Amino acid sequence: MLPPLARRFVAGESAATALERARRLDEDDIGTILNLLGEHYHERAPADADTETYCRLIDDIGTTDLRVCLSVKPSQLGLLVGEDVFRENLARIVERAAGRDIFVWLDMEDHTTTDATLDAFERHAGEHAVGVCVQANLKRTGDDLERLAGLPGNVRLVKGAYDPPADIAHQSTARVDQAYEAHLEYMFEQFDDGIAVGSHDPAMLARAATLHDEYGMPYEIQMLMGVREDAQRDLAGHREVWQYVPYGSRWLSYFYRRVTENVGSAKFALRALLG
Ligand code: FAD
Repeated sequence: MLPPLARRFVAGESAATALERARRLDEDDIGTILNLLGEHYHERAPADADTETYCRLIDDIGTTDLRVCLSVKPSQLGLLVGEDVFRENLARIVERAAGRDIFVWLDMEDHTTTDATLDAFERHAGEHAVGVCVQANLKRTGDDLERLAGLPGNVRLVKGAYDPPADIAHQSTARVDQAYEAHLEYMFEQFDDGIAVGSHDPAMLARAATLHDEYGMPYEIQMLMGVREDAQRDLAGHREVWQYVPYGSRWLSYFYRRVTENVGSAKFALRALLG
């Protein structure tokens, strides 16, 4: 059972509660990106089980008229077990989703998974409705965007939630922000479509709005459940807004990350869980 504070960041443990959340967001004209919590599996069984759960979720979404897509983590689908396992499980999800006209995003995890994730995206782009996330804190992202500019499919730009080593990643907040803005500009200049701004940062959102006015390219804003929700509702009045909504029984580590990011206190999170 989710403690009250976790309910701010996680929709619940079941698909039914996640879809109920999507229904409420729909009333505010906000689309829902559903993520079944789970990651870093080193055995095949949980990866296959989550793939099966995603397939059932796709069927459930298909019975609604809600604007819902999925976002999956490569290590949840078995990337750390083997690239073939990840490929197989992703193909199952993407093909099942295509049958229901449901979009599938690939989250980007730590830097050791970047190549496999981009390769997987490239395999499905063009044939299926897929998107991939890239991280502004990685120095390679400029090159990756050049590769992605030539492909169909959508790209979500985020600052990066992992801590890659200094030789491959920008370390200071200012440098990451600078890279984010430069990448945004490249996307608005070079992409035909499919730009997703995954940020809560008013400065990045303002930059995207300016670039949109300059280049005329459509874009969507993506934010997390529980973070700046008033802003999400305000923005939905004049922009396309999607909320990333995690659900499932493996909520503890996700919730812990959000609370330490937002409140800056691990003690606060633990007290909330125990209390
Ligand atoms: P930050 O740099 O955290 O904050 C900048 C400014 O934004 C703050 O100074 C403040 O003004 C404002 N702000 C931020 N949070 C709040 C708040 N709670 N209340 C009020 N103001 C606030 N990372 C990955 O590595 N891989 C992924 O696949 C991935 N997917 C994501 C999907 C979505 C939809 C989103 C929104 C993020 C995703 N991330 C992912 C996380 C991302 O990399 C960042 O770690 C996270 O979004 C924090 O960066 P930020 O740009 O939102 O702003």
